[in-house]
Amino acid sequence: NPAANFVKQEVWEKDRDHFVHPWTDFSTFKESGSMVFQQADGVSVQDADGKRYLDGIGGLWCVNIGYGRDEIAEAVAEQIRAIPYFSTFGHHTTAPAARLAAKLAELAPGDLNHVFYGCGGSVANDTAVRLIHFYFNQLGKTSKKQIISRIDGYHGSTYMAMSITGVQFDHIGFDVERQLVHHISCPNPYRRPEEQSLEAFCDEKVQELEDKILELGPDNVAAFFAEPIMGAGGVIVPPPGYHQKTLAVCRKYDVLYVSDEVVTAFGRLGHMFASEDEFGIVPDIITCAKGLTSGYLPLGATIFSDRIYDVISKPQADGALFTHGFTYSGHPVSCAAGLKNIEIMEREGICDHVQDVGAYFEQRLHELKALPIIGDVRGRKFMMCLESVADKTTKELIAPEAKIGNRIADECQQRGLIVRPLAHMNILSPTLILSRQDVDFVVETLRESIEAATESLKVDGY
Ligand code: PLP
Repeated sequence: NPAANFVKQEVWEKDRDHFVHPWTDFSTFKESGSMVFQQADGVSVQDADGKRYLDGIGGLWCVNIGYGRDEIAEAVAEQIRAIPYFSTFGHHTTAPAARLAAKLAELAPGDLNHVFYGCGGSVANDTAVRLIHFYFNQLGKTSKKQIISRIDGYHGSTYMAMSITGVQFDHIGFDVERQLVHHISCPNPYRRPEEQSLEAFCDEKVQELEDKILELGPDNVAAFFAEPIMGAGGVIVPPPGYHQKTLAVCRKYDVLYVSDEVVTAFGRLGHMFASEDEFGIVPDIITCAKGLTSGYLPLGATIFSDRIYDVISKPQADGALFTHGFTYSGHPVSCAAGLKNIEIMEREGICDHVQDVGAYFEQRLHELKALPIIGDVRGRKFMMCLESVADKTTKELIAPEAKIGNRIADECQQRGLIVRPLAHMNILSPTLILSRQDVDFVVETLRESIEAATESLKVDGY
């Protein structure tokens, strides 16, 4: 198709010469060029050549209700025609911003009844930090500023969110804000000493949090940031009881608990929010984004408790205000998309579907552990990861230069499946509307691709 080829060439050249992509190896960018995605529908995306791929990464853990939802397009168009934008500072509001906030308060656990909007997950976490600092300041606890998070936790790319992020690779050439942020170790059960029980491992990690608070001084520690399941750090599911026990430590020292649900909220684990329904905790703050609009438009939210709201909303003797905000806080079009997205999720029973088909996905992916290089299959429901190793007993890694994650992803792509490579791992976070047949396709394609990648390792002398 010459017309399609012309468009592809035109886009490809402009992209190569001018579009600076996120998370990209620019050293290989010029020669390899980009795949141009042109269409999407349901669980699949299509490239400029018309080739379809099952999207095994849900855009980027976000297109929860799948592609091609006319209802969202209509809700968005209707809102743009009615009023596309108006600032929400002071005593101005719009219906979608107010209605979505009320809906989030209804869905969020406990007394998390207050919503501050931004444009994504990083900003939701930065907002949480400012909110926490202001909260303690108003209580006269002005030294409570320090933040604790975990190695391999991912919280975003703005300066503060990246400082809280504990993925070491992301910190190369980046000066972490060490005055304020401290990392404790990652609760990854797969990498624990063989003789250690899960319970002992959990207690050790929880103790580490307590020790860090005591080392910094409880009067100086403001908050602990944790994802219910660590996503970009390799889908780490902490040992049972970890969340409850870390929350108890936080309560003991008046440290606020921020649950970063940017990935886990809105159905990925079969619940609107995973903190309480999957892990039994009611944190002080939940941050979310991605699935809030199923990625149709940018939107993030910092949802916080009555206790915090009561403090920040009291008249202050010194006239201090929580002077925080963005032009696009509560953008009505994004909020309209979010409302429609949640309405669709509820009407179609997406969470129930995930409980059912997500469990089947999990179970079928575990079959791949029989393959010689798959050391670990972990995650829950539609948030999964395969970890490849050179030796299953010692868990030694395959040489990084072999790029096993990329090899597997490339083999999958050739077979019509997109999965995410992450060093020696591959991440699966598909749309939440996968059918059982789709799951079978994903698992069988992965099996063939891993076998082919294993062969290619041998050919290349690894
Ligand atoms: N928090 C978590 C757990 C994430 O996975 C991400 C992004 O992947 C973020 C925060 C940052 O969100 P955003 O990229 O929308 O700023």
